[in-house]
This record gives sequence, C-alpha cells and structure tokens, in this order.
Amino acid sequence: MDYQKKNVNSRKRHFEKSSYSERGRRSERRRRGELRAKFTLVATAFVLIVVMVVLGVKLSKISDKKKGNSGENRVLADTNEDKSNDNESVNNKGNKKDTSSTGEKDNKSNGGEDKDAAVDAVANTGQSKWIRDDLDADKPMVALTFDDGPYEPVTDKILNTLKKYDARATFFVVGSRVSSYKDVLKKAYKQGNEIATHTYNHADLTKLSAKKIKAELDESAEVISDAIGCSFSALRPPGGNINDRMRKVIKVPMIYWSVDTQDWKSRDAKSVLKECKVIQDGDIVLMHDLYPTTAQAVVKLVPRLVKEGYQLVTVDELLYYKGINAEAGKVYYNGR
Ligand SMILES: [Zn+2]
Repeated sequence: MDYQKKNVNSRKRHFEKSSYSERGRRSERRRRGELRAKFTLVATAFVLIVVMVVLGVKLSKISDKKKGNSGENRVLADTNEDKSNDNESVNNKGNKKDTSSTGEKDNKSNGGEDKDAAVDAVANTGQSKWIRDDLDADKPMVALTFDDGPYEPVTDKILNTLKKYDARATFFVVGSRVSSYKDVLKKAYKQGNEIATHTYNHADLTKLSAKKIKAELDESAEVISDAIGCSFSALRPPGGNINDRMRKVIKVPMIYWSVDTQDWKSRDAKSVLKECKVIQDGDIVLMHDLYPTTAQAVVKLVPRLVKEGYQLVTVDELLYYKGINAEAGKVYYNGR
C-alpha cells in the first residue's frame, strides 16, 4: 500500500514535470513562430522598399535622359537655324538664290512643332488690287520698297512724288505703327501702292517659336485689314533674317532686295542716290520711310528712273510680270 501510494505520487510528479516542459516547449515554438512571421514581414517590407527606391531612381534617370535629349535637339535646331541665318544675313547684292531646299533637309527632324502651329493662309489679300493689267512686260521694271513705316511726314512726301509720276511702290509696314498713321496708309493703298508686312513689332522672326511668328503675322493682318480693308501678300523679314522654321510656317513669299540704299545709315539724300546709280531691270530697292533724307532722295530718284524708261511697280507686279510664281515661305531677291 505504501509502495503503491509512493508510485502514484512519483508518476503524478513525473506527469506534472513532463507536462510543464511540454508546455514550455510549445510556447517557445509559438514564440519562435511569431518571431519568424515578424521577421518575414519586416524583410518583405524592406525588400519592397528597396525595389521601390531602385525603380524610382531608374525612372528619374530615364526622364532625365529624355529631357537631356530634347535639350540637345533644341540646341541642334538652333545651330542649324543660326547657320541658315549666316547664309542669308550677308549683305545681298545681285543674283542670290534661295537656299531653302538644302536648309530644310537639315531641319526635317524638328518639324513637329512647326506643323502644329503653321500660320493659316492669309485670306483676303489685296494682291489683285495692286497688280495692274496695263503694264508692258517688255519694258524694264523696278520695285521701290519702303520698310519700318508708316510715318506720316515722310511717307506722305514719298506718296506725293509717286503720284506725280504715276509710279507705284511697296510699303512693308510695322503693324504696331499702323494705328498711329492710318490715314497715310489708306492714302498709300488708294494710290495703288502695295501694303505688305514687316511684322507687328519689327521682330527678328528667327528668334521666335512658330506660335509667336504666327502671332506677329496675324496681328499685322488684323491692323492692316482694319485700315485698308484687305491683308498683305508679302513679308519682308526684319533685319533680313530668315530661317527654316519661317520657311515652313509663313504662308506668303518673303521679299529680300537687290539694291540696298543704306539710307538708314547715311541719312543723306545724295548718298542714297549714289547707291541707286546702277539700277537694272528687275531690281528691288530697299529704303525706309522714316527719314526725311529718304523722301528727298525719292523726289530725285523717281523722275530719273521714269526718264530712263523704267516702270515703277509693286513687288507683286514685278514678280507677276517677270513670270515668277511667288510661293509661300520662299525668298525672292529680285525679278530676274
Ligand atoms: Zn526694318
């Protein structure tokens, strides 16, 4: 009996002992399981963060690369344009051919922006009004042209001389000046002179985007139409600066010159007349209706040319009678 009791007690103790250690092991296992789960969670989160950071860096590198490339293209485009400027800004004397075909090839890759903002064709031009039908195509012709006006005191004097000899000229007007000198512009138009544009702000168009070039021409068309009832059919680019973007965007012919009187520089009538000593059939003469000395020179120049047998014509007349099909965006230097 004693023995039995003893045995039971020891089994009980043993049982209690083993049950304690089993529970301890289980809770240890649970604790480890929980730790493992926590570790896995933290590790996953860490890996995710690393992946996100790497992706972020890669994406920013790609976008930087893209930005860098477009910057490069812009620089290239500008360089191309500068080159074409250099070709064209050279003082132009005699026969000079349009170099647009070669220039356009270089710039083909940058055409997108230009296409989008292409200037609409200038509607309602006065071209039909400033091409007379009674000129003699076999007689020599000269087109006198005046930039930077209108300026009533000078423009008016020039108009009076032109009228006296039934002569015509072309006025490349600065749009922002038109509202101040509307009357003299109307007078010029009524006398049959061609009203063309020299931009709205006398802007160097080679420095402007397609959109801004369009704005310069649209605003000019608006003020000219407001003053004379019709728009221009030719542009003289300020500074004589031309680039490939302008060739694509501008929807009227661009008119250069073959005789540069340098009137703005000399401010001397005699000097202007001297520059006009050798005038040939088909010449386009560059002057500015801003200087009284230019008007004084015109008083002498017009009768002299008429006497020599020249017909004094508008630019549109010159190109038309010389059989030149003036195209939008192309440059014309004379009527030969
Ligand atoms: Zn000018």
